[in-house]
Amino acid sequence: TKKAILGPLVGAVDQGTSSTRFLVFNSKTAELLSHHQVEIKQEFPKEGWVEQDPKEILQSVYECIEKTCEKLGQLNIDISNIKAIGVSNQRETTVVWDKLTGEPLYNAVVWLDLRTQSTVENLSKRIPGNNNFVKSKTGLPLSTYFSAVKLRWLLDNVRKVQKAVEENRALFGTIDSWLIWSLTGGVNGGVHCTDVTNASRTMLFNIHSLEWDKELCEFFEIPMEILPNVRSSSEIYGLMKISHSLKAGALEGVPISGCLGDQSAALVGQMCFQDGQAKNTYGTGCFLLCNTGHKCVFSEHGLLTTVAYKLGRDKPVYYALEGSVAIAGAVIRWLRDNLGIIKSSEEIEKLAKEVGTSYGCYFVPAFSGLYAPYWEPSARGIICGLTQFTNKCHIAFAALEAVCFQTREILDAMNRDCGIPLSHLQVDGGMTSNKILMQLQADILYIPVVKPSMPETTALGAAMAAGAAEGVGVWSLEPEDLSAVTMERFEPQINAEESEIRYSTWKKAVMKSMGWVT
Ligand code: ADP
Repeated sequence: TKKAILGPLVGAVDQGTSSTRFLVFNSKTAELLSHHQVEIKQEFPKEGWVEQDPKEILQSVYECIEKTCEKLGQLNIDISNIKAIGVSNQRETTVVWDKLTGEPLYNAVVWLDLRTQSTVENLSKRIPGNNNFVKSKTGLPLSTYFSAVKLRWLLDNVRKVQKAVEENRALFGTIDSWLIWSLTGGVNGGVHCTDVTNASRTMLFNIHSLEWDKELCEFFEIPMEILPNVRSSSEIYGLMKISHSLKAGALEGVPISGCLGDQSAALVGQMCFQDGQAKNTYGTGCFLLCNTGHKCVFSEHGLLTTVAYKLGRDKPVYYALEGSVAIAGAVIRWLRDNLGIIKSSEEIEKLAKEVGTSYGCYFVPAFSGLYAPYWEPSARGIICGLTQFTNKCHIAFAALEAVCFQTREILDAMNRDCGIPLSHLQVDGGMTSNKILMQLQADILYIPVVKPSMPETTALGAAMAAGAAEGVGVWSLEPEDLSAVTMERFEPQINAEESEIRYSTWKKAVMKSMGWVT
């Protein structure tokens, strides 16, 4: 027997750098009913290179949908109540595929990848006019981080990509485009689109006119016909159409009607709809976004200007200031996979707890150079302050502390740019289940850290966008809808002076990490 109708349900794909999830929410209560998660492989074919297999990513989405539907079935919840699906995704990661065969023409070049360092150096010598050419249009500094340079590299170095472009068979997209195209039918009429938030991370998109920028495409020599159509973050892009006999086919015909880059999705999921509201997400990297309303605010302190969201074709666009840290959870994964001092990410908490201090050890995980506020590609990771006393527990503690110090740096930059210091920090993401990390963060920022008890805010944001879309209309975006959400608070426990001393030693360590690569 099927359970009494719960009200319309909304699904969300959350395709992150570390893992893929599919989650199903009750649109009336925002309650998470069921989900499934699969870890994604990362390949490091050369020093500084980071790739993922687009087909493995797609397969993981199918698997998560299937398993979640199975779990719903076990709960006697009828999956025909799923009225819409939203997509949120790792941003900037670049895929080029063949529209006739549906085959990717190269691995996905992941946002963290550094192979484009010389591409960036060459491009920066040719910037037309003043140095502000790229930044004033896109809100972004010319860096290895964004898609345009990754796409440039693919066009310069991969014969299959060049050939497909010549033969008019190539499509470019970030992960959202690759997934939506595939989920809406792929070679059988898949919809090639992206949303304004993902587009704003490509470095080809004009964040004022909200269109692909012809001058930027000329500068990066990108053929505009391979770019996806840019849509709002909340509208029906297409219907689920899964060609092979998967159980995921159970969602056949359901509209895909929400799309947001993961950090924008978390901002929406945390209900940061007002000017000045901010959230920090701790995943593979760490991303602090502050809603600046309809204004495009340009940072004086190393932050990015980015599109926050546009929840409907006729709805206004919102912008955000963003502090991006490349390595946060990734340092924990590195301790697990490369050093083997932990078997699972959760174990880090046990090690750190054993010592309760780094004992003067500082770990700057500048594996991909340093992002905000430094934008220093020459930096590489260092562990310093070691003595014979140092053991793996101290290094574990220093790794957690590094995540907190990096957040402090971007928060300081944000406070300077905004003028009004944040009174507390709203957080989410995979790492926030770590209580030591949360307490350390409150100590190092010296403001309370506040975490929703339902941690899947990224998926929630994508589900909200999908459920609120015109033609779906099962989710109302009024903030009081979530007033029942319970929060966990972490108050600063050490004194401000102690916090400052630790922070200034961290800064010394950061200086030592710079200039390793020339
Ligand atoms: P993403 O969205 O980038 O895929 P998630 O939000 O899923 O990332 O978070 C996963 C990251 O968090 C991984 O890098 C993992 O190492 C880290 N992580 C997960 N649990 C913990 C924990 N208890 N303590 C510290 N780090 C953790």
